Amino acid sequence: MDEQTARREIVRVGHVMYERSYVVSSDGNISVRLDDGRIVATPTMTCKGRMTEDSLAVTDADGNALTDRRPSSELAMHLLIYRERNDVKAVCHAHPPHGTAFAVAGLAIDQPILSEVILTLGCVPLAAYGCPSTDELTEAMRPLVKHHNALLMANHGAVAYGSDLWQAFDRLETLEHTARIAILSRILGGSRNLPADAIEKLINVREAAGYLGEGARCQACGYLHETQIACPSGDRPQPTSYHSESSANGAGKIALTREELVELLAQAVGRSEQ
Ligand SMILES: [Zn+2]
Repeated sequence: MDEQTARREIVRVGHVMYERSYVVSSDGNISVRLDDGRIVATPTMTCKGRMTEDSLAVTDADGNALTDRRPSSELAMHLLIYRERNDVKAVCHAHPPHGTAFAVAGLAIDQPILSEVILTLGCVPLAAYGCPSTDELTEAMRPLVKHHNALLMANHGAVAYGSDLWQAFDRLETLEHTARIAILSRILGGSRNLPADAIEKLINVREAAGYLGEGARCQACGYLHETQIACPSGDRPQPTSYHSESSANGAGKIALTREELVELLAQAVGRSEQ
C-alpha cells in the first residue's frame, strides 16, 4: 500500500473506532506497514475521532520517526507483530468495553460458542499483564502472536491485525461482538459450547476456504486441544487465562497453576484470620 492511501484509511478506521466507543480520549493506536517497509502510525496523544491525515507519524521498521510527528508510545506492540508475522500489514489496538472487560476479569475469549468466530477469527488468548510501552508487554504477547490474529492484554485492552487495515479492524470488531454475546448469554443462564466434532468440521472448512491456515491449529485455547486435530508445529502455547468461562451446564471449570492455587489458599487463610 502507498503512503497516501494508508493515511486516508487510518483516519477512516480511527473515526469508526471512536464512534463505536472502542476508544475514548487519546486511547488506542493504528498502524499500516507500507510496501517499502516504512510504517504509518497514529500520533501520540491524539483522539482517533478527530485526527487528520497530516497528523500521522511515519517511522522506519524499528519505529524511528522519519518526520517531526511522534508515533504512539505503544508502537512497540505493533513492531513486535510485524516482526513475528510477515503476512501482517496493519494493526489496530483499542480498549473496546466488552473485550476489555474479559481482559480485566482475567479471561480469554476462548470458548467455542459461535461457529463463524471459529471460522474467521479463532480464539483470542489473554497475554499476561505488562506495563504499556515496555518490553514487559511485548514479551507477554510474543509467544501468542504467531498463531492468533487478535489478543487480549490483561488489565489493558485488545489488539487485532491482518493483511490489510480493514481485515485488522474486522477482527477487532468480531472480538468485541463475541465478548458482548458471551456476556449477554451469561445473563440468560450461560452459553452452550459446540462439541468437539463440530469444531473439527469448522476447522476443516476454514482451512479449505482459506479463512485461516494450519498455523491457527496451534492456538492457546482449550477447545482446540480437545479435538483430534493436530498442531503442525508442535509449539502450541498454553492457555494463559486465570480462569476459563463456565461451560454449558453451568459447572465452572477453573484452570489454575500450582502457584496460583497456593496463593489463593494463602489469601483465604489470611482473610479468615483477620
Ligand atoms: Zn492501550
